[in-house]
Amino acid sequence: METMNDNTIDLWQEGLVRFNRAADHLHLDDGTRQVLSHCKRELIVSFPVKRQTGDVTVFTGYRVHHNVARGPAKGGIRYSLNVSLEQIKALAMLMTWKCAVVGIPFGGAKGGVICDPKAMTIRELEHLTRRYATEIEIMIGPDRDIPAPDLATTAQEMAWIMDTYSMHQGKVVPGVVTGKPVSVGGSRLRAEASALGIKLVVEQAARQNNLALEGLRVAIQGFGSVGMACAKMLHALDCKIVAVSDSKGGALNKNGLDPQHLIEFKRNRGTIKGLPGAIEIENDELLELPCDILIPAAVETQITARNAPKIKAKVIIEGANAPTTCAADKILRDNSIMVIPDFLANSAGVIVSYFEWVPDLQSFFWSEDEVTWNLRMILGRALDEVFAKAESMRVDIRTAAMVVAVDHVAQALDLRGIYP
Ligand code: GLU
Repeated sequence: METMNDNTIDLWQEGLVRFNRAADHLHLDDGTRQVLSHCKRELIVSFPVKRQTGDVTVFTGYRVHHNVARGPAKGGIRYSLNVSLEQIKALAMLMTWKCAVVGIPFGGAKGGVICDPKAMTIRELEHLTRRYATEIEIMIGPDRDIPAPDLATTAQEMAWIMDTYSMHQGKVVPGVVTGKPVSVGGSRLRAEASALGIKLVVEQAARQNNLALEGLRVAIQGFGSVGMACAKMLHALDCKIVAVSDSKGGALNKNGLDPQHLIEFKRNRGTIKGLPGAIEIENDELLELPCDILIPAAVETQITARNAPKIKAKVIIEGANAPTTCAADKILRDNSIMVIPDFLANSAGVIVSYFEWVPDLQSFFWSEDEVTWNLRMILGRALDEVFAKAESMRVDIRTAAMVVAVDHVAQALDLRGIYP
């Protein structure tokens, strides 16, 4: 079965429900609520790309800024057939909360193109990326909006965007995107950043729930860059990776899977389905397995009211953006399952983007140790603040994190005032 997201769920409306709950806790005034319930800018572009066959295909893409009260807009660009304006708006709003909860000086943005990158050649992808970058150039820039990789985009796409923007400016502008290759101004550890952050979150969640790391049973949905790096890092902590899955299917071994073996098998076969020495499972089954930590690291809307009652994990750490619906959240809360929400759990990606952007502006780069130390400091501080807030307010972690994030943004809006 393919890992599909549930298109009947309106992510933007879900985002508004979560925002309004936090706004209620904070007694936000109506004006601030209205501002944060809208996206500041929404750009829709349609543009032609000449295919290698000589045919022309017109693609539609988006770039959205949700809010920029705390700094330039920041957020990834995704290539997927599931991209829609409502989805991009919701993910841009999530970026506003993500940057705010960890206290890095960015607002929220997101972009995407409706396409199937697996059905395109590398040259076609380059043309699509360069043309999309040109179309959204009216919104991006190192002090306005800084894109980064997201689903199906990598350091290569970022290098093309940086080059396209730089050509148009007549000078090299590395700070226009993050997630670039190190040789053109990228940061060390940016590729592994999200997984490194999830590892820190697993450590914190284990402490909080009195669970030993040794033998901790972890199930990971999604075996892309985040899932793979997570499996390796958690295995190195002596956790037991009991199951993983990708878009084609999954593998289960109660005694633990060897990440290196998984990675090699995936490299050769393009999937982990059929891994020798493991029981073949469906994506849905993975979510419902008995385990200590479940990491949904694939796509949106995987945990819904349909499967939430069957989830047996003690803690869910959201590696993907928006994997859990509001209805599922309530069920998980009632079943005392702790959920560390996406915008906190996977924030290390954008934190290390910040560690790329600052040196890009100064042309002075950080070592791996400096990146790791600063990531630990920023994410550790945010986790402590959110856990303390959850305890003092007697609310779940998502609500506490939303309250912290919305409060930071509302304060910035209030201090800046309304122009003119
Ligand atoms: N796409 C990533 C995210 O959702 C990274 C965003 C960024 O670095 O700007 O957090």
